[in-house]
Amino acid sequence: MIEKTRQLLKTRYRISDELLDLHDRVLEELAPELSYYDEIREYNQLKVTRAFHEERISDSMFSMSSGYGYGDLGRDKLDAVYARVFGAESALVRPHFVNGTHAITAALFGNLRPGDTLMTITGRPYDTLHNVIGIGSKKNVGSLMDYGVNYLEVDFKDGLPDKETIRQMLAEHDVKMVHIQRSTGYSWRPSMNLTVMADIIRFVKEQKDDIIIFVDNCYGEFIETVEPTELGADLIAGSLIKNPGGSIAPTGGYIAGRADLVEQAAYRLTVPGIGGECGSTFGVTRLMFQGFFLAPHISMEAVKGAIFCARLMEHLGYEVKPRATERRTDIIQAIRFGEPGKLIRFVKGIQYGAPVDSFVECEPWDMPGYDDQVIMASGSFIQGSSIELSCDAPIREPYIAYLQGGITFDHARTGILIAVSNTLQQE
Ligand SMILES: *Cc1c(COP(=O)(O)O)cnc(C)c1O
Repeated sequence: MIEKTRQLLKTRYRISDELLDLHDRVLEELAPELSYYDEIREYNQLKVTRAFHEERISDSMFSMSSGYGYGDLGRDKLDAVYARVFGAESALVRPHFVNGTHAITAALFGNLRPGDTLMTITGRPYDTLHNVIGIGSKKNVGSLMDYGVNYLEVDFKDGLPDKETIRQMLAEHDVKMVHIQRSTGYSWRPSMNLTVMADIIRFVKEQKDDIIIFVDNCYGEFIETVEPTELGADLIAGSLIKNPGGSIAPTGGYIAGRADLVEQAAYRLTVPGIGGECGSTFGVTRLMFQGFFLAPHISMEAVKGAIFCARLMEHLGYEVKPRATERRTDIIQAIRFGEPGKLIRFVKGIQYGAPVDSFVECEPWDMPGYDDQVIMASGSFIQGSSIELSCDAPIREPYIAYLQGGITFDHARTGILIAVSNTLQQE
C-alpha cells in the first residue's frame, strides 16, 4: 500500500505498524492464489456475457410490470439467462422469494409428497431449514415432516460424503430426493467442492437412477467454472441476497434445473396451474440483470477477502477453515476464536468498518429461524446482505465467526484490519 493509505489507516483507524506490515506480507504471499481466482472470474464473466448475448437482452426488458404480470418479458428472459449460465433446462428467478430459504423451501415442498423420503448427505442442513424440515424447535408449523415427508440424515465421514452409509440407506429406504448443501453454513465442516460433488452425484445415481438430486447452492455461485446443474444435479436453489444478486438485486431467490421440477416449485411459490407465469416485477428486473452480470466479479472480490482474512488469522495463530490456500467452492471463511469475548469483538469490528451503520454496536440476539443467539455484522446497502462484507456468529462453542462477502477487495481488507485490530487491542 502507498504511504498515504498507511497513514490514514494508522491515524484514523489506529491500525498498528505490525498489523500493516502483516497486511503487506499477506498480500505478497497470496499473489499466486489470488490470480488463480482471477482466471475463474474471467471465464465466468464471459459465460454470463454470452448468455446475455444469446438471449438478446435489451433495454426494453427492464421496464416495470404491474397487476398479474402476465407476459413480463424481462422476467422470462432473466429466467432464460440464469438457465443458460447454470446449464439448466429452466429457471425461476423472482423477487417474490423473500430469501434463499424460501426458494429452497419451494423446491422441496414443490417436489415432495406425503410418504416421500428426503435424505441429506451433507450432515445437518443450514439452520433456517431446520423448521422447514421439521427438526427445529418450532412444532406444528407446517414443516415437511408435519406433512408426512420422511427425513434421513447422513453425515460426512472424514470430511467426505460417507458412501458406505449412503449406499446402505438407499438400499433400505425408498428415497425420493437427496439433498446436498454445497457451502458450510454455520458449521465447522468442509464445503463440498464440485469435484467431490460430481463424484457423489454419480454414485447416488448409480444406486437409484430416478432419484432427484437437490443442491442448496447458497454462497457457491461463480466460485468454480461450473455449477452443480452442469454436473448432474436435477435442481438447485439459492439466494439473490448472496452471490448471484451481485450486491445489486434488491432481494429474491432462484431455482434452476430440470423443467418439470422447476415447474412444480413454481406451483408452490404461487399456485398450481399458474406457477411462474404471474408475478409483477415492480421495476426491479434491471437490478436483477445487472446484479447477475456483476456477480462473477463481485463473488471473487468476496473470495479474495476471505483468503486474505484466512492468511492474516493463520499468522496470528488462529485456526481457520478453509485454510488460506485450500481451493474454495464458496465465499465463507470460518475463524475459530475459542471464547466469546474475542469473537464478539471481531464481529463488532467488521461492523465498525462497514460503509453503512459503521457507528452501530451490534449485539447477540434471538434471530428468527435460528436456535442459538446470533451476532451479525452487516453494515450493508441491501439489508442483511452477506455478499457485502459481513460476519455472523452463533453464540455457541467453540465460538466460530463466519466471515463472508466484500463487494470490493480493498474495502474487505480495511474492514478485516479494523476487526482484527479490535480483537487484539482489548486483550
Ligand atoms: C444463507 C444460506 C441459506 C439461506 O439463505 P437466506 O437468503 O439467508 O434465506 C441456506 N443455505 C445455506 C447453505 C446458506 O448459506
